[in-house]
Amino acid sequence: MSDRIIYLDHAATTPLDQQVLAAMLPYLSEQPGNPSSIHQLGRVAMHALDDAREAVALILGCTRKEIIFTGGGSESDNLAIKGVALAQRQRGKGSHVITSTIEHHAVLHAAEYLEQFGFEVTQLPVDAAGLVRPDDLRAALRPDTALVSVMYANNEVGTIQPISELGAICHERGVPLHTDAVQAAGMLPLDVDALNVDLMTLTAHKFYGPKGVGLLYARHGVPLMPQINGGGQERRRRAGTENVPGIVGLAAALTMAEERRPSYVARLRELRDRLIDGAVGSVPQSWLNGDRERRLPNNANLGFACAESESVLLLLDQEGICASSGSACSSGSLEPSHVLTAMGLSVEHATSSVRFSLGQGTQPKDIDDVVAALPTLIARLREMAPCV
Ligand SMILES: *Cc1c(COP(=O)(O)O)cnc(C)c1O
Repeated sequence: MSDRIIYLDHAATTPLDQQVLAAMLPYLSEQPGNPSSIHQLGRVAMHALDDAREAVALILGCTRKEIIFTGGGSESDNLAIKGVALAQRQRGKGSHVITSTIEHHAVLHAAEYLEQFGFEVTQLPVDAAGLVRPDDLRAALRPDTALVSVMYANNEVGTIQPISELGAICHERGVPLHTDAVQAAGMLPLDVDALNVDLMTLTAHKFYGPKGVGLLYARHGVPLMPQINGGGQERRRRAGTENVPGIVGLAAALTMAEERRPSYVARLRELRDRLIDGAVGSVPQSWLNGDRERRLPNNANLGFACAESESVLLLLDQEGICASSGSACSSGSLEPSHVLTAMGLSVEHATSSVRFSLGQGTQPKDIDDVVAALPTLIARLREMAPCV
């Protein structure tokens, strides 16, 4: 095992920033109040919650009332999909939901869940680069469509969808658009009006905030049925005592991410291209998955023919390099990523792909070390298990 860790799995989660931790600490110790309490400790907590909401609303270009704090990205996706679909059906708007084939499972499985209750779900296809075609959305919209959900940037291949254009098409037909913007935060603009979205999911641990806290932006007037019932918190849209330290951390992390975004993006893009060009240039029969230009500045999803991704990950791990694959191991056999297969990759190619996602701590030397390690590592695997 290597003693130096090269962490290239920021799309899975990011380390908590020290300044964010410092902002949270008072609310983890000397300020224990519940924002619903009348007394002074409650008021301090309520004040912190208000400040956090204000800071987030400023970045999203919305009002404070349109922000719902949740327990993370999966919860926000579930609230958007189930909450809007059920509320729309109750209003007689129909029970058809549109998503895409490359969504995160929090969206895909929430939509599948609705099918059990009589909803119909259409999954928009993507092209070979992983992009949704606006014409496909136009063709899929129906008079009974209750909601469209298409992610802003994909977590596996990093492709960036034409969200504003998709939003305009939805709005011509009076259908709300939800976007999972989890991977976009800190990398792409989040102004909800410019994006033409009615609902948007974010989660703090993907931008150097704490785990277990996220938000759903819900445009004023969009019908939404709460999915967690109980107290009247979050304007009756999400019950439960607010995670005050988490929410304070989310706001601090998002503010920092937004402030440094231009320089962060420029730096990561350069490192990402160094990795893509270096790896594809030095490993025979290797390729980049996803659109080269319209992709997140920190994502390099690379394929290596005749090298199973799980084996690549194990050998990388022995060198102290943390990466990831979209494949899941179920009952001993490798399930190919639903994203890569939707893009038209064969099962062989889809199970030979590895995601490197860069972040704050990534240094040029890290990239050079990975590029230097890959050719021998892949050659070793191909020798051990020759391609048939
Ligand atoms: C990580 C992620 C989620 C889930 O967020 P959690 O906070 O882990 O529940 C949802 N969507 C995308 C695109 C993600 O990358």
